[in-house]
Amino acid sequence: MFSTIVVFCGSNAGNHPIYCKVAAEVGKILAEQKMSIVYGGAKIGVMGALAQAALDNNGEVYGVIPLFLKTKEVAHEQLTKLIEVETMHERKLKMHELSDGILALPGGWGTMEELFEMMTWAQLGLHPKPIGILNINGFYDPFLMMMEEMLQEGFIKHIHKEMIMVNEDIEVLLEMMKNYRAPEIKKWITGQTV
Ligand code: AMP
Repeated sequence: MFSTIVVFCGSNAGNHPIYCKVAAEVGKILAEQKMSIVYGGAKIGVMGALAQAALDNNGEVYGVIPLFLKTKEVAHEQLTKLIEVETMHERKLKMHELSDGILALPGGWGTMEELFEMMTWAQLGLHPKPIGILNINGFYDPFLMMMEEMLQEGFIKHIHKEMIMVNEDIEVLLEMMKNYRAPEIKKWITGQTV
């Protein structure tokens, strides 16, 4: 069970209105389920749509933003709390510390970097948090193919692939995440999980 979810998603809105529309639905559903949101603190793009919908439905939303990004044009100023940090590394660690579940919506480099780091840490047994990918509009299909390729070519194991939950329906995905139990990863020796 988790109560605070970190959401990684685009600072751009994407080329199709469905991205922000679904992000707003996600914000509303998380607020209704009394789940707090931690995110990058911006009012723009998919990030802004998510945060605004959660706030409009009385949700708690915590933004973690590096000072250099905190301009009037970018920072959301009506959040439950806007936490300022110095660096991008500090920000990622803070978002990780504050949350007990991880959710990725469509986005660009920033979203991928945040998601991949959390996946890497899960693989190393550094955290037991559920990681969910909301596959809006088939956006993550190429990534799912890439993951399958990594598996087939021996670069990841089934146990690692199964750590990542993917669905196109946020309510189904949240249920999967609530039921997730991290596998026990004992140690990591020359590429072998034993
Ligand atoms: P991207 O997917 O490249 O648009 O980056 C979005 C992700 O990186 C978000 O989850 C944020 O944590 C972070 N990020 C990127 N750009 C910004 C921004 N202008 N303001 C706040 N956070 C941002």
